[in-house]
Amino acid sequence: LSGDKEHLNANDREIEKALRPLSFEDFTGQKKVVENIKIFVLAAKKRGDSLDHVLLHGPPGLGKTTLSHIIANELESSIKITSGPVLDKPSDLAGLLTNLEEGDVLFIDEIHRLNPIVEEYLYSAMEDFRIDIMLDSGPNARSVQITLNPFTLIGATTRSGLLTSPLRARFGINARLEYYDAELLCSIVNRSAGILGTPIEEQAAFEIARRSRGTPRIANTLLRRTRDFAEVKGDGCITLEIAKMALNALDVDENGLDEMDNRILLTIIQKFKGGPVGISTIATACGEEAETIEEVYEPFLIKEGYLKRTNRGRTATELAYKHLNIKPDFGGHT
Ligand code: ADP
Repeated sequence: LSGDKEHLNANDREIEKALRPLSFEDFTGQKKVVENIKIFVLAAKKRGDSLDHVLLHGPPGLGKTTLSHIIANELESSIKITSGPVLDKPSDLAGLLTNLEEGDVLFIDEIHRLNPIVEEYLYSAMEDFRIDIMLDSGPNARSVQITLNPFTLIGATTRSGLLTSPLRARFGINARLEYYDAELLCSIVNRSAGILGTPIEEQAAFEIARRSRGTPRIANTLLRRTRDFAEVKGDGCITLEIAKMALNALDVDENGLDEMDNRILLTIIQKFKGGPVGISTIATACGEEAETIEEVYEPFLIKEGYLKRTNRGRTATELAYKHLNIKPDFGGHT
């Protein structure tokens, strides 16, 4: 339930595709970002230019890929999709770039994980729409310059802090997606239930929304799992009772924290006296990768006030103790 794409099976992937909004109108929330991007898209179309390069950042599952598809749709151009770790060699990138038509969108997910050599090639492609390719090697090596069709690069990252400054500087549009509040997620849940043809009570939709860690992908996943419960345990309609039963069975607690969220807090409190403790120590103790904790879990726990980040490490807050029903033992005076 971490909001991680890789955990989806083929069927879920199909459904996720069906639930993906295709136009700005269908894209709920992120109002300011969407309003701005709409204007930039319109202006570019009006001038007959390609849209300036766009950097989208924010935790996984908030709509970066979705928004990129919408931008391409609105530009009436095609989108090619790749990701940082996949672009291993400069020739991988060159192959993609030389196949782009004028105005196309190239989407690079996890752009902070680009190989530095590939990244270097991207600079001139983004800036001047050209790349220098080395032909042959050894004494016959020579470089040829290839002119590219003007295109728009959309880079997505969960960790904008890890982007090198030369790369960051080449994006004309920089937008941060924020966690969604329960009302917005509720309308996403209702819209998705409509597409899936599943009847859902308003209170049930809100219950799922409020326990989805502010993340549309998680809201949709919980909706699908709840639908399973409704079909097996009920008459197909997602009632509040069914929603609660399903969410509890899925280890999503009353406040929307999942098992790993709770494990992280519990570890900090029980094994490290509430912190401060370093992220890699927490990761080892929880059996999760430090990177995942930093990208997926920590931003939400900080935003909700369960965790604090200090320069000596992470500390569990009073709210975390309260949530886990543990009495704080500050200095052993209890
Ligand atoms: P990211 O690229 O940020 O990880 P995605 O764009 O893949 O996230 O979004 C995950 C899923 O959540 C999509 O399949 C889509 O159905 C849904 N989703 C994301 N943002 C929205 C939104 N604003 N409105 C409705 N559904 C959304």
